[in-house]
Amino acid sequence: MKVLVIGGGVIGTTTAWCLRQDGHEVTVLDRASTLAAEGSFANGGMLHASHTEPWNTPAAIRQLLRWVGRENSPLLLRLSQLPHLIGWGMGFLRYSQPHYHRRNTRINTRLARYSQQMTRLIRKQTGIRYDEAQRGIIKIFRSRRELDKAALTAALTAELGVRHKILDVPETLALEPALLGICKELVGAIYYPDDESGDACLFTRRLGELAQRQGVCFELRTQVQSMELKGGSIHHLLTSRGIRQADCYVLAAGADAPLLAEPLGIHLPIRPVKGYSASLPVSGCSGVPRVPIIDERHKVVMTQLGERLRIAGTAEFAGYDYSIRTQRVRIIIEQALSNLPQLAASVDRDSASSWACLRPLTVDGPPILGRTPVPNLLLNVGSGHLGWTFAAGCAYALADILNGRRPALDLDGLTLARYARCN
Ligand SMILES: Cc1cc2nc3c(=O)[nH]c(=O)nc-3n(C[C@H](O)[C@H](O)[C@H](O)COP(=O)(O)OP(=O)(O)OC[C@H]3O[C@@H](n4cnc5c(N)ncnc54)[C@H](O)[C@@H]3O)c2cc1C
Repeated sequence: MKVLVIGGGVIGTTTAWCLRQDGHEVTVLDRASTLAAEGSFANGGMLHASHTEPWNTPAAIRQLLRWVGRENSPLLLRLSQLPHLIGWGMGFLRYSQPHYHRRNTRINTRLARYSQQMTRLIRKQTGIRYDEAQRGIIKIFRSRRELDKAALTAALTAELGVRHKILDVPETLALEPALLGICKELVGAIYYPDDESGDACLFTRRLGELAQRQGVCFELRTQVQSMELKGGSIHHLLTSRGIRQADCYVLAAGADAPLLAEPLGIHLPIRPVKGYSASLPVSGCSGVPRVPIIDERHKVVMTQLGERLRIAGTAEFAGYDYSIRTQRVRIIIEQALSNLPQLAASVDRDSASSWACLRPLTVDGPPILGRTPVPNLLLNVGSGHLGWTFAAGCAYALADILNGRRPALDLDGLTLARYARCN
């Protein structure tokens, strides 16, 4: 079958690779000049089944409201965005109710676990290298209350097979000596041994090269302007380089997906949530953390990727605004380095490269996968803060759906149909 994939981020490229393995004739269209130029370019690098809670926890919503307009807060709601968030925001609040939140955490965890297996499979099949590490991930805590709360979520995800170990301070330091300088502030940590890390951009570009060698065509610098219907199905795509046609179309356009789907009458409850990262060269520095770290208090992550330390964080409801505010980058760098005093003393902050991008966040948390009311349009969208983690699992699941195979992953709670049900 001839398939057009819209979007060459980690999701679209991995999907294209999987579809090619099934023998389809695949073309990826992307407006950028390289793969992984947007949301997948410089993310936190974590492949984690341990961090699958949707963002609309009641506590996060309280913090979001308390911090409206505050430039230095990790969660930022810009007042100008309020009119665009009214309907979606009501849904976001509704899904923060504990029974929805627990259910969606389970759905995300199931997908993340499957995805981790599929990422390992791709690694084994291709030998692809992407500054990957299999050292687990550690979440650190400065208050007993925060640790106890996170332990409850860890117990929930443990029911689905996510192993974890609660560590006291000496155990935390034994696992990650780079935290020694803040030992007096810490109350403990949770270690997730099965989580991994790696550079999503390297993965995407290298998998793209392999896919290209196997016959996938990448049409870059090609903006999809609209999907044109005839008889209820997509007849062709209108692009900046002319018309493109296929038997089947996969929408994997990250934060832009709702803009392309809406004219077809397909409403995708996704909003862009901006995040920032900084990549610091750390070769030769002392006190570089070996194990990726999540600092729950400051909501920043730190991941060693080859000779760089990737620091990522902040969630900003700012619409489709890609601008990089240096002040926000500086804040995440300082918050991250406040955990790593030894590194903070030796690293050159001025050599950091900064990045900002939009996470495609669904109203309830899990991504949206599979069929739509338009018979030849499939979705692989809305992976939010977990798109790197979910990429391989979503790609395999989508290939199962397109081929009419029974998906190896249970799709309950992952399809567009869930929004039609009022449960
Ligand atoms: C700061 C930050 C940290 C993060 N950390 C992590 C992490 O540690 N672990 C994790 O799992 N996830 C993380 N994420 C989330 C993850 O990066 C995203 O979910 C993921 O990259 C989304 O991939 P995607 O392919 O759906 O979107 P993108 O990578 O944005 O790809 C979409 C592509 O579609 C193209 N496109 C859009 N519209 C059109 C159009 N009309 N025509 C042609 N092309 C189009 C774009 O050019 C783009 O290349 C993080 C995100 C951010 C912002």
